[in-house]
Amino acid sequence: MDDDDPSPAVKRLLGAHMPTAGGLANSLYAGKEIGCTAVQLFTSSPRQWQHTPLSDETIAGFKQAKSKTGIAFTCAHDSYLINLAAYDNTVLERSQRAFLGELQRAHELEIPWVVTHMGAYLDMTLEAGQQKLISSLKRLLEETSDLTAGIALETTAGQGTGLGYRFDQIAEVLEGVGPHPRLGVCLDTCHVFVAGYDIRTPEGFDQVIQEFDKTIGLHRLMVIHANDAKKSLGSRVDRHEHIGEGEIGVEAFSLLVNDPRLLSIPIILETPDADKMHAVNLAKLQRLAAAATMGMHIHVRLFGHYSESDQNDQELAVPSGLSVQKLTDILAERDPNLRDMASICRVAINEEYASLDTTLKEGDVVAFVPPMSGG
Ligand SMILES: [Zn+2]
Ligand SMILES: [Zn+2]
Repeated sequence: MDDDDPSPAVKRLLGAHMPTAGGLANSLYAGKEIGCTAVQLFTSSPRQWQHTPLSDETIAGFKQAKSKTGIAFTCAHDSYLINLAAYDNTVLERSQRAFLGELQRAHELEIPWVVTHMGAYLDMTLEAGQQKLISSLKRLLEETSDLTAGIALETTAGQGTGLGYRFDQIAEVLEGVGPHPRLGVCLDTCHVFVAGYDIRTPEGFDQVIQEFDKTIGLHRLMVIHANDAKKSLGSRVDRHEHIGEGEIGVEAFSLLVNDPRLLSIPIILETPDADKMHAVNLAKLQRLAAAATMGMHIHVRLFGHYSESDQNDQELAVPSGLSVQKLTDILAERDPNLRDMASICRVAINEEYASLDTTLKEGDVVAFVPPMSGG
């Protein structure tokens, strides 16, 4: 077995929004380095209206990076300045022109989807904003009929006057534009959660996906953004958190990566501290995704000074028949500070003391308790 081979168990496409410092191709190389099989990127600075057309060299370099890295899915995210529902005609015109640029660049780079927030209605009514958005989308699709890149409307948090935080609003926009092969949807877990869709339990998650399917249609879902949320259910405040560390919690992400209805949809992280944390969050998603095929889930809790390890309080996908001793080896491999844990700690499985050669079972909660830390 080649260690560089992605595990055959991890079939679904998982990745992150990667920085493009030093050139667009670097987003793919950096993504490959941390194990992405899907990458999202900005094709120009997201905080500037101005953009220079892509050079032939950039385009060739990007395509080469795609084939070198084998990254199977790419998408672009549009500039933050774009508001396709803008009331002000100058802003609207500028937004549409900038979005044409987004689609053009994506086309040249062979990126199939440009993800966009649905805009804000500001001083208008929500209905009037939606109408503006619908006519913008119609115009954009018409004027780019010779291009391959499509538009993926992202479910939003509903912050301020942001459009598209309810599935039925998105459905209305899609209906207004009319069915189009280059018009799809992106579901963001943080956004739907703070917009009021409770995905934290198996029942809740299932219901939300069913509602998405009924109102929008899963066939319209092109990409998923996996972000935990800093703010609570229904708060409509958009702050992304690391996977499993926010208000949503790890279970929803386990459900997400293992839901058979969503297996073909690429998942992209947009969590904070990209440089340091994308690798960690991606590994978490990969572990959760592997769980279904690798064997089982267990939950690990560390006490005393070990609790400072990032291996603490996590759901872990492990092979069936794993012993506690082997588990400590896996944990120590990920965090060398845990190397002496097996010899020092008492082990409890589901709150009953156990020995190192005990075989773990699906759903076990395994606690490592050093002396003098109670418990
Ligand atoms: Zn997003
Ligand atoms: Zn967001």
